[in-house]
Amino acid sequence: MSKHIVFAVPPGHGHVNPTLPLVEQLVARGHRITYLTAIDMKAKVEAVGAAHIEMPWHRPQRPGGQAFTFSIEMFAGMLALMREQAVQALPALLEHFRQDRPDVILYDSFSAVGAMLAAELDVPLVRLMPSMAFNDHYTIRDAMVLGGVPAGEELDKSMAAFGEAQATFQASVGEPVLNLVFVPREFQIAGDSFDGSYRFLGPSVGSRADSQGWRPPADGSPVLFISLGTAFNDRPDFFDQCIEAFGDSRWHVVMSVGDKVELPEAPANFEVAPSFPQPAVLAAATVFLSHTGMNSTLESLYYGVPLVSVPQMFEQTVNGRRAVELGLGRQLDPEALSAQLLRDTVEQVAADPVIRANVTKIGEQLRAVDGAALGADAIEELLAR
Ligand code: UDP
Repeated sequence: MSKHIVFAVPPGHGHVNPTLPLVEQLVARGHRITYLTAIDMKAKVEAVGAAHIEMPWHRPQRPGGQAFTFSIEMFAGMLALMREQAVQALPALLEHFRQDRPDVILYDSFSAVGAMLAAELDVPLVRLMPSMAFNDHYTIRDAMVLGGVPAGEELDKSMAAFGEAQATFQASVGEPVLNLVFVPREFQIAGDSFDGSYRFLGPSVGSRADSQGWRPPADGSPVLFISLGTAFNDRPDFFDQCIEAFGDSRWHVVMSVGDKVELPEAPANFEVAPSFPQPAVLAAATVFLSHTGMNSTLESLYYGVPLVSVPQMFEQTVNGRRAVELGLGRQLDPEALSAQLLRDTVEQVAADPVIRANVTKIGEQLRAVDGAALGADAIEELLAR
């Protein structure tokens, strides 16, 4: 029977993209989807068949053009800001959804409004997790320390305050009945320690696989894809270094620079743009020089492409480390890059037969699982209870 399913997701490509194949799958099964996110994601969610409702969204500004330093206070501040915005938006949204009741609300933890709506409307709450899940065996604190945040009293104090604020919020809205994680269990740290309320779907691309007219080079040169993702990408210095490293080389370089830097002038063996249809480029790529955001990491593995990780914040450091641990690529210290090091590392990874065998194997495993279908099954099971 057709259900009304609400998604509440922050307007980041890294948060919205992994949900799109799930929306497509649910729409194909005859359900009606309302997607609550900011206006800049409207076209993207409508393209997969959802009705868009605007959630106003004001992001804190970060200083541009330099390395990003993460602090838990910054993270806590962002969550607090999002809760404030949710409180303001809640009355109008409640009025709307009381007239058009959802059967279930799927929310990303950064979109507190989804959890608040579910509590007020008394409908089941499902959490969507675009990156690693946390529990008692693998905590946010563990992730931060793994990702290079110094352990110690200062971190413990900030973590305690953060944990308290989180617990208060969660107590006010209740725990989700189901967690859909877009990471495969074999990539999740401490993957075996999660109970049955966590479903590890792995990556799916759905209609994002469309090439949108992008074609691999006609001369058959190997493709090197370079991207720092869509959020922590204000690094003109890095892109210049890549031009120095790979200009006039054997590589056909596809470099996605995002919308924060000016398009650099590049040699003839480069294609440079703010954005590329990433799945299509990866399907043709030999190596991905990536910030190792979770989606980029998993999309790379889905297409069997080895990674060279140049993380821009702690979570990306953890993802890249995990990829190295599983023999799927190499990681570089983003503070100690040179053109020579980038060139050598990309060549070594391209030539490494063990890494190649490992990524080929994991790619086959990931493509054999239809994560979006598993997610839709889990939601339908929940609604049939
Ligand atoms: N992306 C894309 N084209 C680009 C760069 C990025 O389609 O040129 C997509 C990419 O496929 C992924 C998302 O944007 O789905 C980025 O998410 P990720 O978690 O890797 O990093 P974030 O942007 O959140 O740091």
